[in-house]
Amino acid sequence: HACNEANQHITLSIGLSTYPEDGEDAETLIKNADAAMYQAKEMGHNNYRFYTKEMNVRAIKRQSVEADLRLAMERNEFVLHYQPKISLETGEITGVEALIRWAHPDRGLVPPAEFIPIAEDCGLILPIGRWVLREACRQAKDWMDAGLHVTPVSVNVSSLEFRSGDFIEGLRAILRETGLNPTYLELELTETALMQRAESTPSVLRALKSIGVLLSVDDFGAGYSSLSYLKRFPIDSLKIDQSFMHDITANTDDATIVSAVITMAKSLKKCVIAEGVETEDQINFLQAYGCDEAQGFYFSRPVAAEHFAELLKIGIASFVPHSFSRPRFASVM
Ligand code: C2E
Ligand code: MG
Ligand code: MG
Repeated sequence: HACNEANQHITLSIGLSTYPEDGEDAETLIKNADAAMYQAKEMGHNNYRFYTKEMNVRAIKRQSVEADLRLAMERNEFVLHYQPKISLETGEITGVEALIRWAHPDRGLVPPAEFIPIAEDCGLILPIGRWVLREACRQAKDWMDAGLHVTPVSVNVSSLEFRSGDFIEGLRAILRETGLNPTYLELELTETALMQRAESTPSVLRALKSIGVLLSVDDFGAGYSSLSYLKRFPIDSLKIDQSFMHDITANTDDATIVSAVITMAKSLKKCVIAEGVETEDQINFLQAYGCDEAQGFYFSRPVAAEHFAELLKIGIASFVPHSFSRPRFASVM
């Protein structure tokens, strides 16, 4: 595929099947190579896989998930859970991320990793994403109308949605419909999504900014970023990928990377937030390096909407920032 954009990043996933072991006719061979390719994709991009018989079981499972997902849309089986973002300076809740779950009639609460990639592959992510946006906006407006101290709600937007022609129009319609002030909505876009076709990203982001929503780069550091592009993106915050958190307190490369990302975000005048924070040591590290906010199991797991409303009322009891002497629950209304 020829392209004239600089810094274009293309990844390749290859699936292989061999004659006659994996199929006696072209159709079977291609079908099996296809199953192998999906496996390669699931391992992360730039991989190859040879077909094995177990893959067919997976491919069939995948197809049934796809069919099930369509039904889930119709039957309204998706729910959003909410996880707070905490200011490391004041201890207050400064934001909340909406995270989708699938309340499956037989399988229970299915985590997004098990169905979002499939929804992305088959295009169902577009109606699902639209539902997530509408539901998150409706919920935020509801909390506001109930007199709760509301923070911006963040919604994950996948690359396919972000690049689809009618995303901005759909967003406008949802904001109109729900009556949510756009400054109370944040869109989280992964670093990888932003860097695909990075040339055209700034104009889409500017159009989104002109609506008034906040923009955040998710999973920062996990993919590839061109810093010269990053500088040109009108984004409000950077979320450091949770894969770096695990070892930061052990004075590893990860610690160096995290402190460098914090410094860089500050010099670009972006808010910087750490994901996947689970321990007090990690918080101490992040505070020492001036990280603005954090999100993770240490403060709260993602919880159902009713539970989150309670958190908005009482605050996060387990956390008292070192530098903070005022009463913590200043956000109670
Ligand atoms: P993400 O946007 O990076 O979300 C953070 C994930 O980390 C969430 O997983 C959250 O539950 C988990 N997490 C939070 N704190 C901790 C912690 O302290 N330790 C650990 N180990 N994990 C923590 P979840 O909810 O399973 O979501 C996984 C991914 O699925 C999200 O990653 C996001 O990429 C995607 N996703 C979730 N909801 C949506 C959605 O509505 N639309 C789209 N397109 N993607 C979504
Ligand atoms: Mg996110
Ligand atoms: Mg993330």
